[in-house]
Amino acid sequence: MRVLKFGGTSLANPERFSQAAKLIEQAHLEEQAAGVLSAPAKITNHLVALSEKAALNQPTDTHFNEAIEIFYNIINGLHAENNQFDLNGTKALIDAEFAQIKGLLEEIRQAGKVEDAVKATIDCRGEKLSIAMMKAWFEARGYSVHIVDPVKQLLAKGGYLESSVEIEESTKRVDAASIAKDKVVLMAGFTAGNEKGELVLLGRNGSDYSAACLAACLGASVCEIWTDVDGVYTCDPRLVPDARLLPTLSYREAMELSYFGAKVIHPRTIGPLLPQNIPCVIKNTGNPSAPGSIIDGNVKSEGLQVKGITNLDNLAMFNVSGPGMQGMVGMASRVFSAMSGAGISVILITQSSSEYSISFCVPVKSAEVAKTVLEAEFANELNEHQLEPIEVIKDLSIISVVGDGMKQAKGIAARFFSALAQANISIVAIAQGSSERSISAVVPQNKAIEAVKATHQALFNNKKIVDMFLVGVGGVGGELIEQVKRQKEYLAKKNVEIRVCAIANSNRMLLDENGLCLDDWKTDLENATQPSDFDVLLSFIKLHHVVNPVFVDCTSAESVAGLYARA
Ligand code: ADP
Ligand code: ASP
Ligand code: MG
Repeated sequence: MRVLKFGGTSLANPERFSQAAKLIEQAHLEEQAAGVLSAPAKITNHLVALSEKAALNQPTDTHFNEAIEIFYNIINGLHAENNQFDLNGTKALIDAEFAQIKGLLEEIRQAGKVEDAVKATIDCRGEKLSIAMMKAWFEARGYSVHIVDPVKQLLAKGGYLESSVEIEESTKRVDAASIAKDKVVLMAGFTAGNEKGELVLLGRNGSDYSAACLAACLGASVCEIWTDVDGVYTCDPRLVPDARLLPTLSYREAMELSYFGAKVIHPRTIGPLLPQNIPCVIKNTGNPSAPGSIIDGNVKSEGLQVKGITNLDNLAMFNVSGPGMQGMVGMASRVFSAMSGAGISVILITQSSSEYSISFCVPVKSAEVAKTVLEAEFANELNEHQLEPIEVIKDLSIISVVGDGMKQAKGIAARFFSALAQANISIVAIAQGSSERSISAVVPQNKAIEAVKATHQALFNNKKIVDMFLVGVGGVGGELIEQVKRQKEYLAKKNVEIRVCAIANSNRMLLDENGLCLDDWKTDLENATQPSDFDVLLSFIKLHHVVNPVFVDCTSAESVAGLYARA
């Protein structure tokens, strides 16, 4: 059995939905297949907004109508493609789900709040309808479908919004042997059931984890995660255009990368696969012939010592320190018991070797509660000034460098930290995983993207890039551009690239964060529509997180010289 999971973008419209369906069909013809589906893109966000806004008695119609429209668009398209597709039946199911949601929203509005249990039953509907539509697609083509009901068959423990699946009991309930070999298996992602049989969620982005759990329960040959990129890259390819695709990763590397923010798989995806050594393959629905990335237990770190760089945003850092901490037995255990007692997950910990302080990061949404429980736990020590007032720094990100091969390698930390220093990014804290598989730096969140770009450049490119912002294109400026053009090849041999990202005269300017094409720069500048404006230039540099900007003034204007300090 092969398990194939499709994410929201792979199901967003009729074309993609039917592409996903065909990939499940093809897999089923080769080896029995089980499809695990997310909600179509944007649906879960709409559903989340519905209950949150209803609780605040704010209007919800736009979210409601846009969500229904996404489903109608998909079923209309699927019916247009194959008139055997049960349009009326699926439309009735969609309408029934949304009618129920409407009723629940009314209750939430009356109560002025939403209970987690109710929120869970609203947020999960996108997945439920994805399955209804996929079932109709297969039935229209004459297949018979076996539905795994995650609420009845995946037993989970934890809260309504973020639970973990118990594989042993779920395996019994899914009962692979009872599934007829000719049936296409389908299961909604994102949901499971607790001991009381109530619906619970597996956390945002949790359908990857659902697929891994089903793969474990079925003893599948592979768990395929179909998404909108060709596989796992050295960093988010949407942030860094020259990110490299990783053909293979070890389970540990994948866990570490996703834990520290690589959204391409949910951090808990690997856990259920590991004991049975089930490989996890990341594939692109839009480019199915690309080989993708394979994550399994047999990967040797071939060549690349560092596999990836990630950023995890929206964090707060706590610093518990004070003279009373030195040698005080059990401090760390009290700090972290307080956190776990409050259900707060601690993401990174550092302790100074003098034991004078413990610092740790938690999601910023838990910061208030964390502060309250810490102050309660240490009320005596704080009163007696054995501890300093607890310090909280918000708006932080963790930048992590991950790779199994880092253990043997020397100097990676040095290159990482000097890349951050060169990009003028201050490091708030540093931690190294005890496995030496990751090194993390905590930095201000508004510098996170620059930090990832600068680190990627330092660890994966030996090329030095200068991003030039040129003001003044008279005799000197014009000649400078010509020299940059002429020396391009020579500089490339020396691993240097000068990218001219802005050319401005007193009237107009040209901007391109990836470097302007200089072939016809004079005509381009004459035709430019953007008026010269220094504020626009500075915000452009910030907006695109340009890592190494160099401002070059080739004017003789006093007014430009007056801008140097700001530049
Ligand atoms: P899905 O809807 O299929 O679950 P997600 O949006 O959750 O898709 O995950 C895919 C996205 O993960 C990609 O579009 C990419 O922007 C992002 N991503 C972050 N880090 C990485 C990485 N290291 N490699 C690949 N993709 C990454
Ligand atoms: N639809 C859910 C979400 O958006 C689960 C998932 O897509 O994995 O979080
Ligand atoms: Mg996802």
